[in-house]
Amino acid sequence: MNFHVSHENDLLLKTVRAFMEEEMYPHEDMVDRTGEVPEELGRRIEEKSKELGLFACNLPEDVGGGGLDYAAMHLIEREYGKTSHALHSWAARPTEILLACEGEQRERYLLPCVAGQKRELFALTEPEAGSDVMGMKTNARRDGDDWILNGSKHFISGPCMPDFAIVFAATGEDETPRGTRKRVTAFLVDVGTPGFDCREGHKCVSYRGYKTFQLSFDDVRLGPEQILGEEGKGLELSGQWLGMGRIWVGACCCGKAERILGLATEWAAGRRQFGQPIGRFQATGFRLADAAMNLRAADLMVTDAVVRAERGALQDADAAMVKVYCSEMLNRIADDTVQIYGGMGLMEDMPLQRLWRDSRLERIWDGTSEIQRHIITRSILRPLGA
Ligand SMILES: Cc1cc2nc3c(=O)[nH]c(=O)nc-3n(C[C@H](O)[C@H](O)[C@H](O)COP(=O)(O)OP(=O)(O)OC[C@H]3O[C@@H](n4cnc5c(N)ncnc54)[C@H](O)[C@@H]3O)c2cc1C
Repeated sequence: MNFHVSHENDLLLKTVRAFMEEEMYPHEDMVDRTGEVPEELGRRIEEKSKELGLFACNLPEDVGGGGLDYAAMHLIEREYGKTSHALHSWAARPTEILLACEGEQRERYLLPCVAGQKRELFALTEPEAGSDVMGMKTNARRDGDDWILNGSKHFISGPCMPDFAIVFAATGEDETPRGTRKRVTAFLVDVGTPGFDCREGHKCVSYRGYKTFQLSFDDVRLGPEQILGEEGKGLELSGQWLGMGRIWVGACCCGKAERILGLATEWAAGRRQFGQPIGRFQATGFRLADAAMNLRAADLMVTDAVVRAERGALQDADAAMVKVYCSEMLNRIADDTVQIYGGMGLMEDMPLQRLWRDSRLERIWDGTSEIQRHIITRSILRPLGA
């Protein structure tokens, strides 16, 4: 999908492609088999991305970031989507929520993340509170000026052991027109703080080598300066950035779908049965046609959302539509491609099975398809008071 790409962004895309050819694609198979990105490789990707101006390219120039706009980030996220998070996450795009850092927090958290000296985690999900964020049990109670944090988080992902986590915790309750609602506050919690245990957790079969961490907090004492943003406004703060996160999931799905469709096309043209390429059988050819159509539609949805975001007009439902449509489109294409390959599609020595496994996660993280459909439904019914 190359329309509307400026000359600068075309050069950027070529740079990203060359970077991936050199530093990511050659290692995909090894990373998937071992479930690890060797530290040396991760650091090389990090360094190279700094040299190319791709590290922290999503953050503004005035904090040392690349200052790329959404149109440029769209191209990058789509391209990175073709490979594994285990690899491209080393070329970090620190979470924009860190832009809420104030005063000393900027020197302690934001600027080191932009410089690649520190890594953060975004810790919302809990073992008993996944989709139901408001079911969170992690809480912080006041003790003088300090806060005492207790609870746990899981499935918190990143490329390597972090330096700190942005932890969401209940700090009380508010009465609202819809009843009692938890007050949620975001805290910046350093690894190494007494009572904070951060260790590798479950191993995921999508994006092997991209780690998930489990975090537990046992009477962790935090000063008032460790609150990110305002007390009680944690969800509002994360909500400001979650929308774009879902657009980037959509872009990543389009990139991966394009790569998988390329594999499907080559196989359909080259594999012969009954004396002809299997692509000539309508059952196979129509799968390719549907995949091409659905990918085109998904790309257009992402482009539309990026334009809305640039105008400051992106709604939660817009982001939800992109997330559901693109992740489900990717999964259909991945599954159809396995079918086109027949038995070879499931063989370990083919990249397809890895891309198929990787694709599955996209319907789950950043809010499942079901939760996105709730968001869309709400936007349709709420104006009618239903
Ligand atoms: C590899 C990986 C990395 C992750 N990284 C992070 C991270 O960095 N930070 C973070 O905070 N979280 C992270 N997550 C968590 C992720 O966002 C959650 O897994 C996701 O939100 C779903 O929560 P859950 O897994 O607890 O599923 P559940 O909430 O238990 O859902 C199980 C099923 O029930 C369905 N369901 C639940 N409620 C409803 C409802 N009201 N209506 C209809 N269906 C419903 C869901 O759609 C799903 O199909 C990560 C997860 C994975 C797997």
